[in-house]
Amino acid sequence: MKTTLALVSILVVALALPAMAAAQAGDRHPTMKVGTVTVARGQKASGTLDVPAGSDAATHIPVVVIHGVRPGPVLALVSGAHGTEYSSIISLERLIDQLEPAQISGTVIIVPLVNLGSFEQRVAHVNPTDGKSMNRFYPGNMTGTQTERASAIITKEVVEQCDHLMDLHGGDTDESLRPYSYWTVTGNAAVDRVSHDMALAFGLDHIIISADRPKDPNQSRYLENTATTRGKPSLAAEAGYAGTVETDDVNALVNGCLNVMRYLKMMAGEVKMIEHPVWIDPVQAVTSEVGGMFYPLVKRGTYAAQGMVVGYVTDYVGKKILDVRAPLAGVVLFIRAVPSLVKGDTLVSMGGVGSDAKYLK
Ligand SMILES: [Zn+2]
Repeated sequence: MKTTLALVSILVVALALPAMAAAQAGDRHPTMKVGTVTVARGQKASGTLDVPAGSDAATHIPVVVIHGVRPGPVLALVSGAHGTEYSSIISLERLIDQLEPAQISGTVIIVPLVNLGSFEQRVAHVNPTDGKSMNRFYPGNMTGTQTERASAIITKEVVEQCDHLMDLHGGDTDESLRPYSYWTVTGNAAVDRVSHDMALAFGLDHIIISADRPKDPNQSRYLENTATTRGKPSLAAEAGYAGTVETDDVNALVNGCLNVMRYLKMMAGEVKMIEHPVWIDPVQAVTSEVGGMFYPLVKRGTYAAQGMVVGYVTDYVGKKILDVRAPLAGVVLFIRAVPSLVKGDTLVSMGGVGSDAKYLK
């Protein structure tokens, strides 16, 4: 009797061992399910985030899940909310090709092209289905238009399942932009410290301090802010301009993502943190009071004094109707890349040189 019990005990222990080992390793995600994709450890698979039809059409947003061989953080990489910011989209296409489960501790969820209509029809800034920016309606609403429904699906499937998120952008077809990232200050010191260091690891040498984003997770508006207001340290980054896909811009975004993965201990290798970035605070944009033709006088990245003329506007027969002046002393983050101009368009966005010190607790 005693012998039998002992044998049974040994058997139970032996059977329980693999499960215990997994639990001890802290594997929260033996499998991952994102949209139509279900993957086990060591697998890489693609599918879609299916946004059902509502007051307007359905859309099927592509998603790839790379489920690393070892447990670790879940990192979401998203681009193409603005479907003509091509270099950001191409950078995630490259990472889809490059990243393999054998290299990774944790999981990478890649959503390379949120705004399919914008990409296909070459429409800048908005989703042509409903005329809304796909980075202003988070956390979304399943009874709203396509942008709002897509935002709700991304919040549920991607943001809520990840530990960190990076949202990639660039200058749109009408924006000549120098690369920069954003550090969002939420007021949660622990989250803000990690987001700060993720921006240093991403490596772009100009970092905008966003201290005025919504603090309410139910009114988060921006994708990155949807993650940070849910306690998930994250960032947004921009490189690329005016419809171009330049190698330097794509490399900056790809290498930024890889270096943040090393910082998060998702990949092997030395972490290089940028030591003295230019912290941008505040940012001020100038929108046009008139329509006409725009002529820039400075390039993206130029440093200008407050009041300096950085461009001008003429009517359609060449008569100058407006001088465009720098609203503050600092760097030209982006300047209008095309002559076409209607009232209300952005002419220039400038950043003053600030400091991260007052926001770090
Ligand atoms: Zn964008």
